[in-house]
Amino acid sequence: MEPKYKRILLKVSGEALAGDNKTGLNFDVINEICKSVKKCVDAGVQVGIVCGGGNFWRGRSSGAMDRTRADHIGMLATAMNALAIADSLEALGCNVRVQTAITMQQVAEPYIRNKAVKHLNKGRVVIFGCGTGNPFFSTDTAASLRAVEIEADIFLKATLVDGVYDKDPHKYPDAKKYDTLTFSQVLNDELGVMDSTAATMCRDNGMKMLVFDLSRPDNIYDAVMGENVGTVVSE
Ligand code: UDP
Repeated sequence: MEPKYKRILLKVSGEALAGDNKTGLNFDVINEICKSVKKCVDAGVQVGIVCGGGNFWRGRSSGAMDRTRADHIGMLATAMNALAIADSLEALGCNVRVQTAITMQQVAEPYIRNKAVKHLNKGRVVIFGCGTGNPFFSTDTAASLRAVEIEADIFLKATLVDGVYDKDPHKYPDAKKYDTLTFSQVLNDELGVMDSTAATMCRDNGMKMLVFDLSRPDNIYDAVMGENVGTVVSE
């Protein structure tokens, strides 16, 4: 069977890398995620990954600290996650490059869009660290931006919920799941799936997003093969 998408941008939240501990790195969980990514690569799919940092640090919940500095710490947290995912993918036999939006040349390549695309064309997984490189943004916005920049066919947003609901399904048992919806609906109804900057980025640039549950890591592969594993958001 042919994959439905040839080039994807996968966003993995920091929380998803922590497993049940909710903090730090759980290598069993990361390994399962990476196995599914490897299956996509083996099927000929080009994979870019943006990872969050919430398992270590979130700028907006850092209390009294200067927000810009807190966000700098948050971006460095995403770099740690990028390296951990890279290590896990390499152990599975994938070719990987880490590019960071804040230069740290002893550790990773600087983010250069054309170079990233060259890596993708050679079948290397490219992991984008440090978000957008700017404070006051989120890694969801970084993922939307990188998806548009690398001209991904789809932005796969891995979460811990199996799609987009009209209200929080963990709190409200009568919450209704959407099969499809638009970014305008996400923005107008203030659905908590992503921040408005990220939603606007996707809406204005015609990016399609699939929101799905990463508690079952093989959903990544199934999504790439075109299976209906979550909610599709487009305009
Ligand atoms: N961050 C930032 N600019 C970016 C992306 C991330 O300043 O472009 C910082 C911000 O402090 C954020 C933290 O990095 O709280 C971790 O990212 P995020 O909260 O998006 O991670 P996730 O919730 O997906 O794990």
